[in-house]
Amino acid sequence: MFWRRKKMQKFFFKANDNVLSFCRCEGEPAMSSGQLDCPWCGCGWMIACTKCTKSFVFAQVRETEIPLIELGRREVAARGLAHVTEQEIAEWAEGMAETLDAFEVGDIVVYLDGSYWTVDSTDIAFDGYYASHTLDRLPHADAMADPALLNRVLGNKKYWLERELPDRE
Ligand SMILES: [Zn+2]
Ligand SMILES: [Zn+2]
Repeated sequence: MFWRRKKMQKFFFKANDNVLSFCRCEGEPAMSSGQLDCPWCGCGWMIACTKCTKSFVFAQVRETEIPLIELGRREVAARGLAHVTEQEIAEWAEGMAETLDAFEVGDIVVYLDGSYWTVDSTDIAFDGYYASHTLDRLPHADAMADPALLNRVLGNKKYWLERELPDRE
């Protein structure tokens, strides 16, 4: 049998409703970051669903036949953006492919301030979109045993203001 195999690729999908979730969909593709100037609200540490646009914490890297370009188009539609060109979607897909390169199928991934991390990452030190972070473990991981911790730490405006990057635009 020589079925032509469709090209499979990785993408982030909603993993579950653990710890904190406003989305009730199952296994829908994730939306890429829509982080604004209020990372504490959740836009700096949760992931949005492309179907309902509500947020959850844990995504999983899964294989899909849906081309990245098509996922980009769906995201544009979900966000209700009117003036995004095919060229911009192609650039988005290229950037997303690079991001996904760092992960294996099956990885459970969380988002923090511009980057995706496997939830069991340790000794994390980086400058994000908004703040400079130094963490032994991700609050998302600690929250699995203590769900209120996410809002207490990352949902706290003070956490972000104390670490805000000086040259942030
Ligand atoms: Zn926000
Ligand atoms: Zn949803």
